[in-house]
Amino acid sequence: MCASKADLELYIHIPFCIKKCNYCDFLSFPSNEERREIYVQSLINEIEQTGKLLDKDAYAVRSIFIGGGTPSLLSGKQIERIMLAVRNAFFIMEEAEITMETNPGTLTKENVFSYKKAGVNRFSMGLQSADDACLHLLGRIHTWEEFLKSYELARKAGFENINVDLMSGLPGQTVSIYRRTLEKVMALQPEHISAYSLILEEGTLFGESEEIQKKIPDEETDREMYQLTKEVLAENGYERYEISNYARKGKECIHNLGYWSGIPYLGFGLGASSYFEGTRFSNEKNLEKYQKKPYVPFIMREDYTVLSEKDEIEEFMFLGLRKRAGISEGEFKERFRVGLKDIYGKVIAKYEEMDLLEWTADGKMLRLTDAGIDVSDYIFCDFML
Ligand code: SF4
Repeated sequence: MCASKADLELYIHIPFCIKKCNYCDFLSFPSNEERREIYVQSLINEIEQTGKLLDKDAYAVRSIFIGGGTPSLLSGKQIERIMLAVRNAFFIMEEAEITMETNPGTLTKENVFSYKKAGVNRFSMGLQSADDACLHLLGRIHTWEEFLKSYELARKAGFENINVDLMSGLPGQTVSIYRRTLEKVMALQPEHISAYSLILEEGTLFGESEEIQKKIPDEETDREMYQLTKEVLAENGYERYEISNYARKGKECIHNLGYWSGIPYLGFGLGASSYFEGTRFSNEKNLEKYQKKPYVPFIMREDYTVLSEKDEIEEFMFLGLRKRAGISEGEFKERFRVGLKDIYGKVIAKYEEMDLLEWTADGKMLRLTDAGIDVSDYIFCDFML
């Protein structure tokens, strides 16, 4: 935190991919160079216009997340231009975490060094699986070998903070296939791992294919993979600091922690959402419209939702409880002027009794137990008011 300035996070969306993966429902699609360049100009315009409306001294940006899509489809020069616009528009903390999502198979030596030069200091690499058959089925554009080359390139360029995304519960995936993925990734010692179970989304190739659905591992196998993730990562010195996220000490993702802690964020680019001054709003989702219309600055928008105190309390609970550290009784009181137990006394007592929720020894933090994390979705429903 910066004295006299409030914390702020920025998200920048790059909606382009080489081709659509078979399970993906993110806002992303193929593009050509011309399309990408027009988009970068619109994005820079949006950042500049927003910067003009904000008091630069009021906010200190603690993290920037360039996500997608595949941001590494942009050239080093384009990322440099975007970062320059961000630095001109906002006060960026010296130690700010600047993450860029990258897709193995899209990285070139020249670009990786330029991303570093532009100030990117954290890479998030979408591997998903180290098994080529799984990667092929997922519709990923890379093999394990190509991932390895990209990873080594990132290390050579000086990236000392790398996240690797993994997925379990994939069609045809067995526990031993998944174990091999974990072992191969552990040998590389990335600083951070995000490990999710595949979700079948409507409208995706996987979501619509009965054949694929038949190949999805059963619940017992899925549970086994989930347990395996916890065990293997713990054995290798990673701490689980959120339901699906593991990190070496001090390498937790600042951007995501901010999101779970209710730090305001501004999103730029197609469909990007924001949470700012107690309101939520998101950008235009149609690319042509986003690029054509003169940008409407965020404080003049009509499509925002002002969060009620009830919404804020619920979000505080179910986002905060995702963190292994839990939520602070003091922070809750300061923000909502009532104690946690005044609102949730019965629910807390119920889950304490079941050993699913616990207070830290000093009584200041309420958190899920290990067993509680395993059934977190079920517990969160009880915190809706
Ligand atoms: S690379 Fe990521 S964003 Fe792009 S289609 Fe695949 S999963 Fe979706």
